Parts: sequence; structure tokens; C-alpha cells
Amino acid sequence: MGFLAYLSLHARQDWRWLGLRILATAALCGLGGWLVASQVLRGQIDQLGQQSHHRAEFYRQSLESLLSRNTSLPRIIAREDRLKAVLRHPESANARATANRYLADIRRDADINAAFLMDHSGLTLAASNFDQPGSYVGNSYAFRPYFLDAMQNGLGIFYGIGATTGDPGYFLTAPIEIEGQRLGAATVKISLDDFESALTRSGDKVLIADANGVIFLSSIPEWKYLSLAPLDAEAQRRIEASRQYRERHINHLDAGLKLQAAPYSVRLKLPDSPAQNTLVVSVPTGSLGWSILLLTRTGPERQNALFAGIATAFALAFVFSMIIYFRLSVRRHEERVQADARLRQAHQELEQRIAERTADLRATNASLEERIDRLKTTERILRETGDNAVQAGKLAVLGQMAAGISHEVNQPLTAMHTLTDNARDLLDRGDFGEVRSNLDGIKQMAERMGRIAGEIKNFTRKSLVEKQPVPVLNVVCQAAMLVESRRRLADATLTLPEIPETLAVLADPQRLEQVLVNLLLNALDAVAPCPTRHVAVLAAVDAERICIIVRDSGTGIPENALAHLFEPFFTTKSSGQGLGLGLSISRMIVQELGGTIEAHNRENGGADFCITLDRA
Ligand code: ADP
Repeated sequence: MGFLAYLSLHARQDWRWLGLRILATAALCGLGGWLVASQVLRGQIDQLGQQSHHRAEFYRQSLESLLSRNTSLPRIIAREDRLKAVLRHPESANARATANRYLADIRRDADINAAFLMDHSGLTLAASNFDQPGSYVGNSYAFRPYFLDAMQNGLGIFYGIGATTGDPGYFLTAPIEIEGQRLGAATVKISLDDFESALTRSGDKVLIADANGVIFLSSIPEWKYLSLAPLDAEAQRRIEASRQYRERHINHLDAGLKLQAAPYSVRLKLPDSPAQNTLVVSVPTGSLGWSILLLTRTGPERQNALFAGIATAFALAFVFSMIIYFRLSVRRHEERVQADARLRQAHQELEQRIAERTADLRATNASLEERIDRLKTTERILRETGDNAVQAGKLAVLGQMAAGISHEVNQPLTAMHTLTDNARDLLDRGDFGEVRSNLDGIKQMAERMGRIAGEIKNFTRKSLVEKQPVPVLNVVCQAAMLVESRRRLADATLTLPEIPETLAVLADPQRLEQVLVNLLLNALDAVAPCPTRHVAVLAAVDAERICIIVRDSGTGIPENALAHLFEPFFTTKSSGQGLGLGLSISRMIVQELGGTIEAHNRENGGADFCITLDRA
């Protein structure tokens, strides 16, 4: 794995891990925030519950002190003789008037709403409001629980709307006993209006519900005379019978409010505001099974809890971020250190490898130099050996030639000997014409012998062949020029190769020209007796070598001559026409140039002579 690829893969994995960690951390922060928020909310609600409870207790004490202040008042009144006198003599107007005044005084002095006297049937005989419209006097309250309770149990306590006045009030009734008999009852009515207005002014949402759950005092006016829960039929009947709330039908509030000891939360819609979470604290009060309900909005507490939760979540997020950042920084640092170490190691390895390679190369170089030296030595030895071998080959050929030479030389020598003898005889006879003819013959013989000697000398000379690039077309043209007169004599056509001028072989130009001239002369000799006389020089080229072909349309090489063509002094030409040395010398030259020469007949007549040499 490349170093950069390794780093980038590592980085990608890091980012994936980082993403997961951020998610987990966010979840953790959210959870922490939620826990703190719920704890804070619980604490705040507890606190609020306690405060609400204290306030509800305060209202309870206020109410109970208000009620208890006058609890004994009806009993005191019940002892009053002026009232008893009325019961004894209900027909006495004087007694009634006295009682009326007494009750009016009591009302004023005790600061109560009303006081009145009923006979044993519940009929009102005297009242503090005797002189006002809507006086109780003459009305029967036998149906009122406070009367019934008082007559039966000795004390009647009741809260309800005044059947006559329509004003709500707290009724306290005590029986009046005369000589051990309950002949009537004295009732005081206490107004709770001031208490109710105090509730309203307090700003608290306070409800006071009776034992049936009917709200009869409330700082929320709309909720007055509604029950917390639907009333059962019996309760509804009792209320209607006692005309506690006059003719009202009591509907229920349906706000989820209950009477229970522990504070509880309920989502509540108050008449003047939308639904909100509200803490409800209820405290029992009085002897009639009443309850004080204090409703407190928990919005601020919830907000506080929410803020605390959010702050905690952010604080946690900050702390976690710092931890993650710190850990990532540490890891980055470690990775950087490791990467540096790896880089250093890779560098060292690279340097070591380079040093090893350099050493290898040096060794290879040394061995190559050594091999080159050896090759040079071998080449020199080969060259010397080759030169010697060529020379030795020449000498061997010369050995072969010896027989031919002796034949070739002996024959003219014998002829010359005979001609010389003849010439001497002819001189003696004075036949100068014949002498001249004999001398010409001798001259021809001598010339022939001279040519043979020249060829042999040329052949045996140890020459240094200097190979160089020789343009093929150029050397062929040179050779063609040299044989031009012979071509014309034979009346033959000569075609030159169609090759680029730059195409060259490695050769000695004079020696190659000599070979080509020899081959062209042979070709012209071969076509001379034929009706169509055509000679062509062609070239076949490959990447390394070039084959120069001398082609003719001549008689072709006789079958029995093919095996001896390149032997010295082999000729099929008539005596005096050829020495039979051309091809053997040509082969020697071509071999000296490092090439080959071969000959073969063509299918359609004529022969091909191919010289193959290295390409320059
Ligand atoms: P010379 O030409 O003096 O005979 P060469 O060594 O040049 O000697 O040729 C040897 C013989 O090869 C020739 O005598 C001839 O028989 C044969 N020869 C050479 N060239 C050709 C050719 N182009 N076609 C047919 N025969 C040939």
C-alpha cells in the first residue's frame, strides 16, 4: 500500500469513527440534559408544591379562623331569654320586636351577615333583617340542613346560597331548649364574600369545594358552582332538596381536577389563558369536608428546567468535544510520529536498496568490462586466426591450383617450346612470315601465362580488408559502367536495382566492385548465345543483411558444373575464353568481407548469383 493511500484510508476511517462518536456524544449530551432537566423540574415542582401547600395552609387557616370565630355565637344566642320569650309566646308582638332588635344588635356587634330565630317547625319568628325587604321573618327553613341538623344533633352547619336573599353564606345553627325541649333554633349567617374577594385579590388561583366537589368559592368567577367531577344522582338530589345553591343545576368542570393529598400536575385551561401545566395542591378544611385547591402554573419551573437541561447538554457537549479533540490531537500526533518513523524507515530502505543496486551495477559493470576485454582479446585472436586462416585457405587453394597451374603453364610452355623450335627452323629457311606468326603465338602464350601469374599474385596477396558502408546502388553502377562495352558487344540489356541510394552494405568498395564485375561478365557471357539477352541486378533486404542478386536470362549453369563452380580453374568456356578463376576469387573476397556467395539455376532459365553481406 502506498504511503499516501495508507494515510487517506486512515483518514477516512477516522472520519467515520468521528461521525459515530459525535452522534453518540450528542445522544449522551441529550440524555444528560434530559436527566438534569427532569431532576431540576422535580426539585422545582417539589419546591413549588411546598410553597403552594404553605399558601393553601394559609388560606385554610384564614378560613377556619373566620369560621371558628363565630362557631359559639349561635349557642350564645340560643340561651338568650328574649328569644326564648318569643318561642314561649310566638303571638306576642312585643316579644318579637324585642327579639328582632336583639338579633339586629348581635348582627351589628358580631359583624355577621344575619341572625334569625326559627320555631320548632323551621318558621322564622325574628330576624336581624326584620325591617328590610327580603326579611327572613315569616319564611320557613325547615328544609335547610342547618335547621334539621341543629334540631336533631344539636348543631347545624351549612354553606349555601340564601334561599330568601340569594346571598351565599355560612350558616351556624344551635337549638333553643326550653325546659329540656328543643322548641326552636337560632341561626347566624356569616358572609364569606370578603374572604372570597381577598382570594381574588391575592392573585392566586384558589378554589374551595364542598364535600360533593362543588366549587362554591373561587378566585376564578367562571368556575363558581361547577363541580370538579360529574355529580352522582344522589348528591344532585340532596343539593336540590336543600336548595344549597338555589335552583342551579350543577355542571361539572371537566378539567381533571381531583381532591387528593399529594400535589399533582394537570394540564389546565383557565378561562383567561391557554392550557398550561398546572400544579394542584388540595388541603382539606372545615368540618363540612371542604377542600381548598390551589392552582399554580409550572411554566417558569419548566422553563428553568429546560434551560438547565440545555445548559447541561451544552456543557457536556463542550466537555466531550474537548475530550474528543484532545484525544484526536494525541492520536494525530502519534500517527504523525509513526508516519515519520515509517517514512524514515522507507527512506533508509530505499537508500540501502540503492546502495545494493549500485554495488550490483558496479559488479556487473566490472564483469562486463572484463567480458569486453575478453571479447576484445577473443576478437583479436579470431581476427589473427581468421587472417591466418584466410591466408592458409588461400595457400590451400593455391595448392589445389598447383596442378591446374602446371597444366595451364606447361601447355603454353610446350607450345612455346615447339613454336620457338619451329621459328628457328623457319628463320633458317628465311620464311619470315611464318616466323612472325609463330612469334605472335608465343606472345599470346606469354600473355596468357602473365594473366595467370597476375591473378595468382592478386589472389595470394594478404590484404587488409577495410570494411565501410558502401552504397549498393553506387557500387552496382560502377560495376555496370566497367562492363558497359562488353554489354554492348553482347547486345544485352542490363537492369539496375530499384533501391534507395542510401541503402548500404559493410564492405570494401573496390573488392565488391571486382566481384560484381566478375559476376556481370559471366552473366553477359551466359546470355550472349541466347536470343533474349537480359541481365538484371536486384537487391533483397532485411533488417540485418542485404542480398545483391545478379540474374541473367542465359543458358543456366550446366548440372555437372554446379558442384565445381567456385573451384579455381574450373571453366566451361573454350580455351582462351576463361581462366576459371573468377568465381573462386569472388568467393574468397566475399568471405573476407564476412559474407556468402551462392549460385543456382532459375526455373524459367538463366541463373542467379547471390552475394549476401551485412547491412551498414
Ligand atoms: P571463367 O569465367 O573464366 O570460366 P569463372 O570461375 O568465372 O571462370 O566461371 C567458371 C564457370 O562457371 C564458367 O566457365 C561457367 O561454366 C560457369 N558460369 C559462370 N557464370 C555463369 C553464368 N552466369 N551462367 C552459366 N554458367 C556460368
